[in-house]
Amino acid sequence: MRYSQSKEQSAELLRVVLARMGQHDAAFNPLTYTVWFEYAAGMNADLNRALDQLLSTKPRLTDDDMWEMYQSHVADVDPQAMHRIGDDLQKVLATLASAAGSTGDNADQFSAQLESLAAGLQSLNGGLMTSVVSQAIEDTARMRSSAHALEAEVKGSQSEIQRLQSELTRVRDESLIDALTQVHNRKGFDEKLADMLARPLPPGRLHGLIMFDIDHFKMVNDTHGHVMGDRVLQAVGEVLKSCLPNGSPTSVARYGGEEFAMLIPESTVEECLRLAELVRTRTKALKIRDRRTQAVVLTITISGGLAMLRQDEDAQALTTRADRALYQSKQDGRDRITCA
Ligand code: GH3
Ligand code: MG
Ligand code: MG
Repeated sequence: MRYSQSKEQSAELLRVVLARMGQHDAAFNPLTYTVWFEYAAGMNADLNRALDQLLSTKPRLTDDDMWEMYQSHVADVDPQAMHRIGDDLQKVLATLASAAGSTGDNADQFSAQLESLAAGLQSLNGGLMTSVVSQAIEDTARMRSSAHALEAEVKGSQSEIQRLQSELTRVRDESLIDALTQVHNRKGFDEKLADMLARPLPPGRLHGLIMFDIDHFKMVNDTHGHVMGDRVLQAVGEVLKSCLPNGSPTSVARYGGEEFAMLIPESTVEECLRLAELVRTRTKALKIRDRRTQAVVLTITISGGLAMLRQDEDAQALTTRADRALYQSKQDGRDRITCA
């Protein structure tokens, strides 16, 4: 983990960082916050050197400066870390907004009291006192409007942070999905597999992995072209999704090329085989049609290999066994499922 500061240390850093942020023109967003946080924590020597150098030539830093510092010296913080930082900043801003709000409210009250004092002095013909009070009224009005402006600004920053956080979540989710088939990509598969391996097994249940590979797919490309090949991949992605039992933790991924994988946590050999057979028969029943004439132009088959996780087996060992079972299906004539 990149940030090892305790809650107390980071609370102290929050104060320092906020003061820094207040001195510059860059917006109050997680990116700016991260740069100043790492600077104040003294945890990133390159960043401190570059930022000190920049500060010696430029007293007020802008969003562009922060972006440049972030890209050159901080980037690569994972989106989850950004999320945590965003959460911290959100809490601080909420406190700041309420402090600014109550300062504004106090100033409102004070200004009302001064107004009535001034009216009283006017009727007594207070001379000098009246002008002192008028000055105080003006000062209070200025303070009131700047407190209200600060409150509005902080509230604006809060909604900007919320927007950035949802954007980060969206980008992270998107980075785990294969654009063509809309199932998980290899990275998503790796994460799901690690999740599955970390799951404790209820008695009598086993984790399953099925590797699928479209049969003679090269021929589809060679005969009908790559565009049609891509349509077939999309259709197989749809088949795989359609086979997912409702509300189950089972997931599907495009493992690479024309290979797909299905992860079935807390299952049984029988359940996994039933699922694999469902995928195989639905794939075989697929009819890829000509978009214009609707005539069926091709049908395909798929082969699969199933492996159930053994005790002390890691991700690689499980994948290798499922792959070997898939290879066996190919050897035995394709359009079939083999259990390792
Ligand atoms: P087998 O039954 O033994 O699996 O034969 P195969 O032809 O399916 O296997 P092979 O590995 O020889 O060919 C896989 C082909 O998949 C070759 C490659 O061009 C194609 N392919 C991989 N990714 C894509 C893709 O994203 N789009 C398209 N259209 N083709 C792809
Ligand atoms: Mg293949
Ligand atoms: Mg193939």
